[in-house]
Amino acid sequence: MSQQYQHDVLVIGSGAAGLSLALTLPGHLRIAVLSKGDLSNGSTFWAQGGVAAVLDDTDTVQSHVEDTLNAGGGLCHEDAVRFTVEHSREAIQWLIDQGVPFTRDDDPAHDENSFEFHLTREGGHSHRRIIHAADATGAAIFKTLLAQARLRPNIDLLEQRVAVDLITERRLGLDGDRCLGAYVLDRSTGEVDTFGARFTILATGGAAKVYLYTSNPDGACGDGIAMAWRAGCRVANLEFNQFHPTCLYHPQAKSFLVTEALRGEGALLKLPNGERFMPRFDPRAELAPRDIVARAIDHEMKRLGVDCVYLDISHKPAEFITSHFPTVYERCLSFGIDITRQAIPVVPAAHYTCGGVMIDQHGCTDVPGLYAIGETTFTGLHGANRMASNSLLECFVYGRSAAAHIVDHLPHTALPELLPHWDASQVTDSDEDVIIAHNWDELRRFMWDYVGIVRTTKRLQRAEHRVRLLLDEIDEFYSNYKVSRDLIELRNLAQVAELMIRSAMQRKESRGLHYTLDYPDMLPEALDTILVPPTYDD
Ligand SMILES: Cc1cc2nc3c(=O)[nH]c(=O)nc-3n(C[C@H](O)[C@H](O)[C@H](O)COP(=O)(O)OP(=O)(O)OC[C@H]3O[C@@H](n4cnc5c(N)ncnc54)[C@H](O)[C@@H]3O)c2cc1C
Repeated sequence: MSQQYQHDVLVIGSGAAGLSLALTLPGHLRIAVLSKGDLSNGSTFWAQGGVAAVLDDTDTVQSHVEDTLNAGGGLCHEDAVRFTVEHSREAIQWLIDQGVPFTRDDDPAHDENSFEFHLTREGGHSHRRIIHAADATGAAIFKTLLAQARLRPNIDLLEQRVAVDLITERRLGLDGDRCLGAYVLDRSTGEVDTFGARFTILATGGAAKVYLYTSNPDGACGDGIAMAWRAGCRVANLEFNQFHPTCLYHPQAKSFLVTEALRGEGALLKLPNGERFMPRFDPRAELAPRDIVARAIDHEMKRLGVDCVYLDISHKPAEFITSHFPTVYERCLSFGIDITRQAIPVVPAAHYTCGGVMIDQHGCTDVPGLYAIGETTFTGLHGANRMASNSLLECFVYGRSAAAHIVDHLPHTALPELLPHWDASQVTDSDEDVIIAHNWDELRRFMWDYVGIVRTTKRLQRAEHRVRLLLDEIDEFYSNYKVSRDLIELRNLAQVAELMIRSAMQRKESRGLHYTLDYPDMLPEALDTILVPPTYDD
């Protein structure tokens, strides 16, 4: 029997964005935080490097703003960049107050750093401004915020709950557009429950799982983007997907990134015949920026029809390798690859979704009562290419800003009346799950081949044709069979893939992460790609 729940605030997603919003709201509000798997399901747990912020007295807001604008290929919104950076110090202070164990700077050699925590520097940043907890920053942040949330009796932390769709007045045939909550599959009962809420927040992370190879955990299916689109929200700049150049290629290795520091310490990229290729693409060779290295690997893989290339550091002393890269060494060894003697098979992998649901500085979407925060959004911060470590910062700044906006609007917003139950009377159990599995594979394969690092108009047209066929097939399946997590995710992935393809076809230039052989140059004017859903009339 399906259940009805009512909360003041329904937060869909338990990563950096969702937890920081929930913890910033006052304790008298009844809040539900959902995760479709375990609470640690999102990308936040896996973030390694850290969070960018202006923390040291020698650094300035202007410098962080300029670095972000330079990385963004002319497409960042300066007001969004400034807003994010100006709030960076207070966001970090809030994390410190929550108890995040950031690495302290007790090295006297770092006297120039006036801040008590250690700051590192990453690609694109002209100052040391990355605060971190060793090389597992995301896990440290997640565990701290979760522990704080567990202490708050007003927050219900609900695992294994998959939001299926948003409930809006329009969907119910009522006057108005307001979001009233969501239908949510409880994986333990198989029932779809109804969550009514005064405010609903999408904090569902990115969509990198749309590609065959990804550094992201399994849940990164763009659920929030697809749900928002179906509810009538505009989305923007979905053609910009950041690829990490070196992800371990092994049938049993899921999503393991081989850190860029290996190349920094002299590792060489090689073809299967042992030949180096990076010097042909860039004078900086293996030390060229991420997008150039990813593009070169993709080019060589497609040219030779090979499954991977190789990253080789075996020419360095074994002791140097094991002491500098213990995690990579151990992980590769567990798959039978001894990196002190062998090259590592690698492929580029989808890493970060730069575009998403359009929001303002308070996290408000086009649908009243519906907010979006974190990687699922488009704020204008990242432009055509995300700068390292700005993404976690965006989660905290917008999570906290959305919380403040909700507090301001509490007096004018009532709890919705009891909402209609999910109608499962017309559907049966599926006996054809093989179709779902097949469509998953097909989608991720053609997105990789046709909408990947290097694009052409012909490849995009092929992808568009295939995704339309898939969407029809999935729609039919969705109308006839009971929903499962796999079906919900496939439906959303296909929807987001279609939006990505459409966005890529609209951009008739190469800019930042979008590179097409048919339009290799950048146009003089930088414009966002904004898609308007059929139900949105403005
Ligand atoms: C390997 C790796 C390393 C990274 N390193 C860094 C770094 O060093 N610095 C940095 O700034 N960024 C880094 N990033 C990016 C950064 O981690 C993410 O952008 C950020 O964590 C996203 O947080 P989020 O809260 O938006 O979403 P996530 O942390 O991805 O959380 C999404 C949540 O939504 C839930 N969810 C999704 N769909 C549904 C649904 N339908 N129903 C219910 N729940 C749902 C999930 O279960 C999960 O709880 C890295 C990413 C990866 C993958």
